[in-house]
Amino acid sequence: MRVWRVKRKIYWSDSFDSAHFLILPYSSKCLNIHGHEYKVEVEIEGQLDDNGMIFDFNHLKTIVKKLDHAVIVPKDAIKFEQGLVEVETLNGSKMILNKGQYIVIEGNATAENIAEYIAGQIVKNANDNIEKVKVKVWEDSRSYAEIELNNNH
Ligand SMILES: [Zn+2]
Repeated sequence: MRVWRVKRKIYWSDSFDSAHFLILPYSSKCLNIHGHEYKVEVEIEGQLDDNGMIFDFNHLKTIVKKLDHAVIVPKDAIKFEQGLVEVETLNGSKMILNKGQYIVIEGNATAENIAEYIAGQIVKNANDNIEKVKVKVWEDSRSYAEIELNNNH
């Protein structure tokens, strides 16, 4: 008798509009505050939970919605934080942002780190049934960053 091994996966995708800027040790137009229509693709592999799901699509929506119309701020660009946050770019632009208008990213606000932020938020909410999380963040139609997290328990 043949025994079938089961692999289950969900896919979800969405887009969000955000502003960001980078901190770089060389001259670049990316030092300026500018925007992208980011596209995000998520793949999650795992077993079904008691609700018959690998992961709730609505939870993915909630995670990504926080980035939409927010300024993605590299942690190192924060001058002070007290209810609101003051941010300064390397080329001297300053912004004061209120809670809910920004998301702080560890390291630089690159597509790589945004993908890692999203993957981190997913695994923070994940139960033991999740085995693999893959997040792809497209900055434009030509370029994306991808991260894959594996849960080997
Ligand atoms: Zn950019």
